[in-house]
Amino acid sequence: MSFNIWENLIIQERARKTLEKIYNKNFYTGAFIFYGKQGVGKEAHALAFAQSLNCLENSFTPCGTCENCKKIYNFIEPFIYLVYPTPTTSTHQDQIEKKVKLILEKKKSIPI
Ligand SMILES: [Zn+2]
Repeated sequence: MSFNIWENLIIQERARKTLEKIYNKNFYTGAFIFYGKQGVGKEAHALAFAQSLNCLENSFTPCGTCENCKKIYNFIEPFIYLVYPTPTTSTHQDQIEKKVKLILEKKKSIPI
């Protein structure tokens, strides 16, 4: 059984290309913000990218079978946090839906 999130994702091609470019340039930080309309797959893309960054096979296309891929797939990786804003008033609802934050605490070192 594969635990590769990318395999089961309806991919937003523009987002995937951007994430792959970030991955290939090793130009990433400890946190990313994924935002957009409701239902476009922000959380799924964020988790798939987390797999890419943490896969032990060191490939943008994660193996889906290593321990890190399995942990992320099963939401048991302790260093990955999904952070959502708390609604304060109903007038902010539209903004809140667009601001989904993902913090990735990577195990990989960040090149300078
Ligand atoms: Zn893997």
